[in-house]
Amino acid sequence: MSEITEAGVVGAVGKELFIGGKWVGAEGGKTFAVRDPATGRELCQVADASPADGMAALDAAVSAQADFAAMAPRERGEILRRSYELLTARSEELALLMTLEMGKPLAESKGEIAYAAEFFRWFAEEAVRIGGDFATAPNGSGRFLITRQPVGPTILITPWNFPMAMGTRKIGPAVAAGCTMVIKPAAQTPLSMLALAGILAEAGLPEGVLNVLTTSHSGTVMEPLIRDGRARKLSFTGSTEVGRKLLEQCADKVLRTSMELGGNAPFVVFDDADLDAAIEGAMLAKMRNIGEACTAANRFYVQRGVADEFARRLTERMQALPMGRGTEEGVVVGPLIDEAAVTKVSELVSDAVDRGARVLTGGATVDGPGHFYQATVLTDVPQEARLTHEEIFGPVAPITAFDTEDEAVAKANDTEFGLVSYLYTSDLKRALRVCERLEAGMIGLNQGMVSNPAAPFGGIKQSGLGREGGKFGIDEFLETKYIAVAL
Ligand code: NAP
Repeated sequence: MSEITEAGVVGAVGKELFIGGKWVGAEGGKTFAVRDPATGRELCQVADASPADGMAALDAAVSAQADFAAMAPRERGEILRRSYELLTARSEELALLMTLEMGKPLAESKGEIAYAAEFFRWFAEEAVRIGGDFATAPNGSGRFLITRQPVGPTILITPWNFPMAMGTRKIGPAVAAGCTMVIKPAAQTPLSMLALAGILAEAGLPEGVLNVLTTSHSGTVMEPLIRDGRARKLSFTGSTEVGRKLLEQCADKVLRTSMELGGNAPFVVFDDADLDAAIEGAMLAKMRNIGEACTAANRFYVQRGVADEFARRLTERMQALPMGRGTEEGVVVGPLIDEAAVTKVSELVSDAVDRGARVLTGGATVDGPGHFYQATVLTDVPQEARLTHEEIFGPVAPITAFDTEDEAVAKANDTEFGLVSYLYTSDLKRALRVCERLEAGMIGLNQGMVSNPAAPFGGIKQSGLGREGGKFGIDEFLETKYIAVAL
């Protein structure tokens, strides 16, 4: 593409379903609108899959499974490597497309494309490292031969907040392992996934290996596929509420599951922390993706001696953030995804204020068009406020002071979630002590971001099951087979 324009990037994407390597219209030619959350304007219409379309996608994935499992691992890795290169080469166009459908600032969309592409590079390298084992039985009479095989056809469901990376974090290991897929992006952000399907096809992914369903009624389309039983795995990223429902559906045919669910990250700052680093980390952990991240710092617990100073400096930084459409130069605070998100953030802030919290900056919605909420800092937030227990998913930083280490740990762990915790201290013994006590799958120790394709991403408690990324990510798409060998 010579000149990159909004109409150009939207126009370049396939708007139909991608099934069996072909672009096909939905049953009855049905479509639904994709909108720009910064303006409310319709960007385009995409195919609205029916349950019958869903079944056609599953049929295609099932038919392609045996041949794909037999493809040489090096060849599967090369497809991922070429896809990594194409994503990287087209990052400008893809970033604009993502900003248009999701709202995050262009610089962050570029960051996500790079992050998304890294999963393909990482898993291109993992495809050729699927190991096994050989051992002598303890009684010496036989041998154990242990191999790893693809799980089989998989169903992948992704959220709107990271429209590309949540896809590549699943597609990368599935391709590396030799699994075929039906993937369903969120209705609010289907365009990035459709663009990705085009790139994977261009990189040589065989027909039927990746099938993309866009639909405005995800429950009715996906439930029959999950209950069908031919898909052997579901990998889901989204809310804990929907994750619970899908786990029940998977129980019927005992599908393998990976669940990357909601978070409620505490951000704990001790008196002995490097405050400059803590403020930088807080801005990143809170404001990345406009606060719409499962890893977003949801609660700030700051030790009494530095609490006022921390709140003052965070307020200064939050006040200075430019707000606007993500396509505009310098914007940091883009729109929230929809009006329901703005209403939820408003309600959580009002609830905290009603219970005694003080607003240091922000605390209000912004007139349309678009779905904006001001960057907000609250202090003196009581533990019973709703936003200490629910995901805010917006640009709101609630601060609470604490006195002792035990109190900080108790407050941090007072949640059903366990995705990530952030901890700032310069005392090594305290750092290790508190890291061990924090109930989370990931910890940012003196840093405000944990996401890395080479590291195992995932949560404990009701934040999920399994890990994505790192050397663990491919395990989610492999079965272990043990062959008892008689000599
Ligand atoms: P969501 O409402 O749970 O939706 C996630 C995906 O599930 C979307 O594709 C959605 O499609 C689909 N879906 C919804 N109901 C379904 C059903 N009954 N059957 C099948 N599919 C269904 O979550 P979201 O609002 O998109 O995303 C935000 C949530 O994701 C937050 O809780 C966040 O913490 C979590 N998240 C977690 C991680 C992680 O790695 N742990 C990463 C990112 C986000 P439609 O929207 O089209 O209905």
